Amino acid sequence: MLFIRSFMILFLCCMTIRINLCFSSNPSSLRNLSVDGHFSFDEVHHAAKDFGNRFQLLPLAVLYPKSVSDIATTIRHIWQMGPNSELTVAARGHSHSLQGQAQAHQGVVINMESLQGPKMHVYTGNNPYVDASGGELWIDILRECLEYGLAPKSWTDYLHLTVGGTLSNAGVSGQAFRHGPQISNVHQMEVVTGKGEVLNCSEKQNSDLFHSVLGGLGQFGIITRARISLEPAPDMVKWIRVLYSDFTTFATDQERLIDPVQASQFHSDGRTLYCLELAKYFNRDRADALNEEVGNLLSQLRYITSTLFQTEVPYIEFLDRVHVSEKAISSAAATGSSMLTSLDDTVPDDSR
Ligand SMILES: Cc1cc2nc3c(=O)[nH]c(=O)nc-3n(C[C@H](O)[C@H](O)[C@H](O)COP(=O)(O)OP(=O)(O)OC[C@H]3O[C@@H](n4cnc5c(N)ncnc54)[C@H](O)[C@@H]3O)c2cc1C
Repeated sequence: MLFIRSFMILFLCCMTIRINLCFSSNPSSLRNLSVDGHFSFDEVHHAAKDFGNRFQLLPLAVLYPKSVSDIATTIRHIWQMGPNSELTVAARGHSHSLQGQAQAHQGVVINMESLQGPKMHVYTGNNPYVDASGGELWIDILRECLEYGLAPKSWTDYLHLTVGGTLSNAGVSGQAFRHGPQISNVHQMEVVTGKGEVLNCSEKQNSDLFHSVLGGLGQFGIITRARISLEPAPDMVKWIRVLYSDFTTFATDQERLIDPVQASQFHSDGRTLYCLELAKYFNRDRADALNEEVGNLLSQLRYITSTLFQTEVPYIEFLDRVHVSEKAISSAAATGSSMLTSLDDTVPDDSR
């Protein structure tokens, strides 16, 4: 009797475990997860598109998280499905990837822009920084920081990208030669790991995770919050663009500028053109001195003189020059190469 009773108990336990495993390893079990935001299982087609328009990988579901805990709960659930589950997860920022990096074939796409984390916080003391959500757009970070006369040190040319999207890559623009890419200007992050844990990481805390996630193409965890280094924002930018038809001359001048485009009317006569674009940050009270300095600088370069374009624009207008920049990139791509070099006039000469 004792043997039969033990056997029955064991049998029933196994049945229960089996039923649970079947339940949790079934992707549709996501429907029963309790989250602050919501899952969409029907309207998922937009998550199978990106800027490249070359890959269309249809996901099973899109999660619109309202909290970090939504992301952690979902990933923990998928982790618990075990190694036999083929359900993949991809964070989606502003989906400006070109090759489907933010897509998940029959998996779960996490729409980071719907994350409603704690409000952005700007710290204005020594070594200022901003704490921002992984789904925040850089343009919104810039606007918020400018309220305090501050701005992130390193940019992308195009600012309608998310914090998580560019920190998973590198984040490169004209300031990178001075401050490094955006991933070199992060103090710490909050990350949801592949097991669904929420961890803080920095150079000193969980440093392996910190260095893996930065530039990790979304493969080592999901960035839910980042502390980004700031500096005083200048008022204005002197924006200069010139074209070259000879690459060696172009590269020599580019090196000269790193050491210390609006030429649309110009006819290339079928030659490849090289575009050198410079930005010199300054405050309005230095405008005269700056113009003299720029005049001296340009007189040493050997670009095609008729192609010189220069203007002065407010700092935010320059950084958010979305349409102008895209036009410049596409025209430069059609004709040759382009590089934006930002010479920060607010930094003393000896630190260049
Ligand atoms: C018009 C245009 C201009 C660009 N300009 C620049 C530029 O000047 N400098 C530059 O460096 N790059 C530039 N890029 C490239 C761009 O930075 C990258 O494609 C970037 O990944 C896009 O950010 P996103 O928010 O759209 O991310 P998505 O395309 O949505 O995602 C990119 C990758 O990051 C992952 N990811 C997204 N969010 C998170 C998160 N929170 N945590 C972890 N992983 C995440 C995704 O899974 C995916 O692998 C440009 C791209 C375009 C289309």
